[in-house]
Amino acid sequence: MKKGVMLGRDAYSYIRKSVPVADCVLVKKLADAEKFASKYKFKVVLKIISKQAIHKTEIKGVRVCDSHLEFQKIFNDLLQLAKNKKLNLDGILVQEFVKGKEVIIGLKKDPTFGQVIMFGLGGIFVELMKDVSFRVCPITMDDAEEMIQDLKGKKMLEHFRGERAVDFEVLKKALVNISKIKNIEELDINPFIINSKEGKAVDVRILR
Ligand code: ADP
Ligand code: MG
Repeated sequence: MKKGVMLGRDAYSYIRKSVPVADCVLVKKLADAEKFASKYKFKVVLKIISKQAIHKTEIKGVRVCDSHLEFQKIFNDLLQLAKNKKLNLDGILVQEFVKGKEVIIGLKKDPTFGQVIMFGLGGIFVELMKDVSFRVCPITMDDAEEMIQDLKGKKMLEHFRGERAVDFEVLKKALVNISKIKNIEELDINPFIINSKEGKAVDVRILR
């Protein structure tokens, strides 16, 4: 396989044996997008996929859709946006909406320790507070438990303000399985969305 960055469908396919990924299609035609979205009653997320726009939110390239009424407009807006920005478009990714709490999981190569796995809470927790934990790969379920306990913000994952705790077994299994992935330089799952029943990767970037 070619070296370089893998995004969108390619990246999801690469990790789906290790960890659940959100159901999605990469399309260019509205009819194909609608066919997929109808399976989810149009409760889906649409994203611009292009190697020239790795950070999709920054260019307003991620839109949540709630109903059939707004679907067509969102789809066409994203195509127009890609055109305006003169992006080389792989397509529009239409993805099932996943409800839950956002965490990030990553792999990278450390010059001293070799492959390490990184785990943290999503959003501002990572960006502002650098609340993350690292372990050398591969890890066990006990290591995964420790990684969760390491986080200052771990209460976010527990029962909190009426929201149910995430399924910690699912989360730990995801960490263990991801820690066994080989033959890549870097992996970023940001976010992995987890709730009381399931967890799914919704944004994946791989560097090979
Ligand atoms: P990027 O990181 O390139 O800006 P993402 O695909 O991570 O784009 O989407 C940005 C944000 O949109 C995510 O952090 C998450 O909050 C939300 N999001 C993306 N995909 C989904 C999804 N399938 N279900 C629910 N929320 C999503
Ligand atoms: Mg992301």
